[in-house]
Amino acid sequence: MSDTPILDDAVVAQTVEQLRDCFRSGKTRPLDWRIEQLKALCRMLDEHEHDFAAALRADLGKPQAESKLTEIGFVKGEINDTLKHLKKWLKPKRAGMPLSLQPASGKLVYEPLGTVLIIAPWNYPLMLVLSPLVGALACGNTALLKPSELSPHVAAMVSELLPQYVDAQAVKVLEADAEGTAKILAQRFDHIFYTGGAAVAKKVMAAAAPHLTPVTLELGGKSPTWVDGSVDLKHVAQRLAWAKFLNAGQTCVAPDYVLTTDDVAEHLIPELISAVEALYSEAPCSSADYGRIINQRHTQRIAALLDDASPAQIVLGGEFDIDERYIAPTIIDRVTADMKLMGEEIFGPLLPIVRIADLNAAIDYINSQPKPLALYAFTDDKEQRTQLTEQTSSGALGFNLALAHLSAHELPFGGVGMSGQGRYMGKYSIDTFSHLKPVISKPLWPNTMKLIAPPYNRITDLVVKYFVEK
Ligand code: NAD
Repeated sequence: MSDTPILDDAVVAQTVEQLRDCFRSGKTRPLDWRIEQLKALCRMLDEHEHDFAAALRADLGKPQAESKLTEIGFVKGEINDTLKHLKKWLKPKRAGMPLSLQPASGKLVYEPLGTVLIIAPWNYPLMLVLSPLVGALACGNTALLKPSELSPHVAAMVSELLPQYVDAQAVKVLEADAEGTAKILAQRFDHIFYTGGAAVAKKVMAAAAPHLTPVTLELGGKSPTWVDGSVDLKHVAQRLAWAKFLNAGQTCVAPDYVLTTDDVAEHLIPELISAVEALYSEAPCSSADYGRIINQRHTQRIAALLDDASPAQIVLGGEFDIDERYIAPTIIDRVTADMKLMGEEIFGPLLPIVRIADLNAAIDYINSQPKPLALYAFTDDKEQRTQLTEQTSSGALGFNLALAHLSAHELPFGGVGMSGQGRYMGKYSIDTFSHLKPVISKPLWPNTMKLIAPPYNRITDLVVKYFVEK
């Protein structure tokens, strides 16, 4: 794969200006244009499914089925759901008018924002660049896409194919590394939609500040999982193992670590080991269904998280091969809060088991950490579910289900606090990529506004008392 091209300031400025011109021309506003773009996007995914799957395999060793499930098929589902509802979603909403303004009518109109920037990470490199684009196009915006340079095969394919399908005046792709992205961020956009880590998010916000550009930040962090003794641990283990080791653990909402009691841990760990072996066999390195780490640097970073774990604590896996970007699905028992594994988002196939006294202690621990993108709890205990819902804060909360909440079209996806701000997917993308503009109209006659204009008198007081305050 060739290196990421070096971006020239003038090229960046010209690209953004062309997108602005296109938006100003008004061509992106009609519903028909938007529908046409979404259908073209779907056609691109259909006609190049194998090419995209091959690129995903080259970048992340993704099994084809996983590429279809979590990237290609996922985006197609998002497009089809949007196509089904778009007309209804965009319909202006009537708004009631207060007595004090009568006679008058009001409505809310979804207005496109203009030119938006979408910056994507490498872990679901196709889905995370195209899903926001679905929302941006559905709302009638023009968009500049910046795929991750760490997934170069997908980035090159997106860059080559998109202009052949969607309106190339309205959607442009710039491939760039950190330096090039900083040049892009120096431009003014009408919205920046960023997915990635918190450190870069701060740079994105800082770059947006001089232009007062609104940002959506889809970030990550450590998503905890609580397991109690009220559930069938065999089934828990199957769901947990799938959610954790999918894409070799490089999923923003993967269960980062498990919090559980001593007695549950004793039963859960053997079930987890069996569940992992059922998914990837006893030799995951030769399983066609197990992915690879994005690059050697990240492989090294993840492997180093095991440095302070003793061999006795590693109850499954622990093997790695930096050159091959391979890390075995690994389970580490009796992990304590001071260990490396608990110091940062793992974003790899290591699952720490933290033994803890009870749910109250687990909640205290969760609340002592930054608000997570997702919190999972495997429990059928109603009181525990209420306690977790009311006493913790997270981007999403999943009971007996991890990770798959992303596929529920009617639920928004986004973080809270350090795990992000803003949300998208389905109808929520319409809210993110539009301005909800109030439009109000009042006949000039009868001129009721006279009642609240100077010279103020007793009638003004009566209007305030009976029409404004009530
Ligand atoms: P990253 O922050 O390194 O990079 C993300 C994007 O930012 C890339 O396109 C990259 O080119 C760009 N970038 C990198 N350095 C930059 C700089 N100095 N200035 C400007 N742009 C720069 O993130 P990552 O490693 O690609 O992604 C991992 C993180 O993303 C994890 O924390 C994960 O949880 C999170 N994530 C969140 C979601 C979500 O939907 N909430 C999805 C996937 C990943």
